[in-house]
Amino acid sequence: MLCPVFLPHLGCDRRCIYYDQTIITDTKESDIEKVIKNSLSRCHQKYEVGLFGGNIFGIPPSFLKKIFSLFDNYRENITAFRISTKPVPINEKTIHILKKNNVKTIELGMPVFNDKILLKLNRGYSVADFYNAYELLKKEGFHVAIQVMVGLPDEEREDISHTVKHIKRLMPSYIRIYPLVILKDTPLYNAFKSGEFVPCDFNEVVLRALYIYLNALFLNIPVVKMGLTDNEVIKEKIAGGFYHPAFGNIVKSEGFYLALTGLFSRYDIKGKVIVKINRRDEPHLMGFKRKNIERWANTGIYIEREIKELPQKEFIVSFGGKELKGNMLDTIDSLF
Ligand code: SF4
Repeated sequence: MLCPVFLPHLGCDRRCIYYDQTIITDTKESDIEKVIKNSLSRCHQKYEVGLFGGNIFGIPPSFLKKIFSLFDNYRENITAFRISTKPVPINEKTIHILKKNNVKTIELGMPVFNDKILLKLNRGYSVADFYNAYELLKKEGFHVAIQVMVGLPDEEREDISHTVKHIKRLMPSYIRIYPLVILKDTPLYNAFKSGEFVPCDFNEVVLRALYIYLNALFLNIPVVKMGLTDNEVIKEKIAGGFYHPAFGNIVKSEGFYLALTGLFSRYDIKGKVIVKINRRDEPHLMGFKRKNIERWANTGIYIEREIKELPQKEFIVSFGGKELKGNMLDTIDSLF
């Protein structure tokens, strides 16, 4: 079990353009202690602790040691730690503290592998900085994961292809895919209001996330999360962008929709069709609020579903006495 502890922006000396620049991170030891106590009270038996939301590498080593010491009373239940951080500033002292405290996995934030966009986002590091950190952490024996984003300002499909190429080269332990959200009182919001930043449409962002997702699946790299949890976004502040509580479901549903639609059109299938599928993929076959079922019905294809012991992502289409096998990954090359 993973027990998340959110320490928003702790250790980050700047703000991305999509965050409120005036937010001051609470660095009081007593407040961090309260957050830890609250978060761990929800976790039982043995668990791994995830320190998320901040830039652990930016926390001065002496204070980082203090933060880990706040877990001392819980140590017997903690199997390991994982952290999320920017790849800078990386230094030996921090790595030593992380190792000593049983940190096994490090998630590096790398929204896009494009220096110009990173600069525009005010991330404060380059692709080269990221590679430097990634390689060092691997050498030090950590599992390294990557957090990428979709829907960023100036982002083109080519950037998404680059993200996939880098993921393929790096083979991280897992990835997370976050859609961009425009929050009020941020530089991004001002650019959005003035028309300087015009987001692409939601469906395009879904396709971009899907492209990364399918390629990760193809490479056997787990995608542990697509979308944002309530801890990661202040809902009242959302003014635009691509937040959706069912973002991951929508992306997977689009994958099934495109794979099946491709098969229906190749075999000129119309009328009643039975789709056999793993139980866990059933919601993705249906689509969010039955969107897929309705889209197919609008083109004269009427789906009946049958739960079957199939590997996830696979399906069998049964019509007119014939059976055809398919896979969500079938759509990977025709997406972009
Ligand atoms: S880089 Fe990370 S910690 Fe810093 S402002 Fe952006 S999201 Fe927050």
